[in-house]
Amino acid sequence: MNFYFLSPSEPRGGKKNLGLNKANRIIYNRICNRFSMPSRSPPKTKNRPKRLILAQMHKKKYSNELIGLMSNPWERAKKQLRAASEKTGLDPYAEKRLSEPDRTIEVSLPMRMDDGSVKAFKGYRVQHNNTLGPYKGGLRYHLMVSMDEVKALAFWMTIKNAVIGVPFGGGKGGIIVDPKTLSGKELERLTRLFTRRMSDVIGPLKDVPAPDVNTNSQVMKWIADEYRKATGKSQPAVVTGKPVSSGGSEGREEATGKGGAYCLNSLLKRMRIKKSTVAIQGFGNVGINLAKSLIEEGFIIKAISDSKGAIYAEEGIKDIEGLEKHKIEKGTVTGFMGLRSIRTHELLELDVDILAPSALENSVTIENAARVKAEIILEMANGPLTEDADRILKDRIVIPDVLANSGGVAVSYFEWYQNMHKTKWNKQKVFGKLKELMETAVKNTLERKDRYKTSLRIAAYILALERIGRKI
Ligand code: NAD
Repeated sequence: MNFYFLSPSEPRGGKKNLGLNKANRIIYNRICNRFSMPSRSPPKTKNRPKRLILAQMHKKKYSNELIGLMSNPWERAKKQLRAASEKTGLDPYAEKRLSEPDRTIEVSLPMRMDDGSVKAFKGYRVQHNNTLGPYKGGLRYHLMVSMDEVKALAFWMTIKNAVIGVPFGGGKGGIIVDPKTLSGKELERLTRLFTRRMSDVIGPLKDVPAPDVNTNSQVMKWIADEYRKATGKSQPAVVTGKPVSSGGSEGREEATGKGGAYCLNSLLKRMRIKKSTVAIQGFGNVGINLAKSLIEEGFIIKAISDSKGAIYAEEGIKDIEGLEKHKIEKGTVTGFMGLRSIRTHELLELDVDILAPSALENSVTIENAARVKAEIILEMANGPLTEDADRILKDRIVIPDVLANSGGVAVSYFEWYQNMHKTKWNKQKVFGKLKELMETAVKNTLERKDRYKTSLRIAAYILALERIGRKI
């Protein structure tokens, strides 16, 4: 998409003087609210998202991304809960309890940077519900992290863990930061500071973080180490997604992508559908491992994108390891082996059987949903379809995030279990158990779909609410 910058004569002095008409001011305020940005103050030079949003509005350019930003995932999550509660007749106490998180924590993270300057970051942890076990969910580093986003993600973890049948509740965390702007040392200091602030509320039997967008096994290793220092006890089960040499599980790296492939295969088999061509949005942990697993299963990956661009090959992109190396060297997937470049938004609209959004939430919106041609949407990212997009695509097969990407938390549970029982499983055992869990979750979800004549998403929620509702 195109970003425009405000001219030097940009409006100053409060929201009345932002130069927007009334309707745009309402939208602008909603966006500021969504990102916990004070709407009254004029945009500061460093406040990039706010400047970009304002600038786009001045140009009347409502890009898909901007529309996505306007969709509040927490509001959407609560509506999904309401729809599933109505179908199952969930006890009003259970619904009330699930419609707000048990606890939200916001911390300030002031830190000295390598050059001696001081910056303050903001971090969140949301503990949504622990009826089925300790809170469990990833930690995300991204400029667009907000409290409402983290609340929605924590809620989806509660549902996801219940769908896949692991003894965890739901939690999520995040820091508002672009990690690409930090040095390795700064990233480590920020992670350790966040861990110290959270050391009272996390723990193997309290709340167990894991990797998410822009965090990885190294970040988890720092958290485990800092938690040991803060509590005086070495407890590797405080986080999952650690390196295998530091108590991580074999197969955790691949788990979400591989789980998505098991899920897709199982669903296609049960629904007696034959499909083969795929477009994958996002080439991080999830997108890479989904691509590898699907190729092993005989699917054809026609296109792959990252935040900078997308590539297309009619005969299929086959060398995913080569593409990974290329991305590390060049910082983008584009230019790989001379494959045709396409625009990132075009990938979502390609004529393929399966679209797998595997980047961030809100990538399919009211603006582009009608142009999506894929018959199957495999939601590997969390919340990639806005509420409007979900409605527009209601006649397609949307495999919901709480089912499709639950392989990650399934193997996180295996890691936690191995740490708690001081045992080690090999990859074959991990993948065997993962396949079993995914296939059972697909079978149980399809049963609810048929019984309640509803979408796969609501069917998965019903399954989860049955399990949580029995114990809450
Ligand atoms: P990651 O940081 O490893 O990768 C994210 C990828 O998305 C990057 O390649 C980035 O370039 C790309 N991207 C960002 N914006 C994009 C855009 N507009 N168009 C195309 N590509 C874009 O993150 P990840 O761990 O792969 O997670 C991806 C999604 O999957 C997130 O929604 C996350 O919450 C979800 N998820 C991850 C896991 C896990 O185990 N990592 C588990 C469950 C769900």
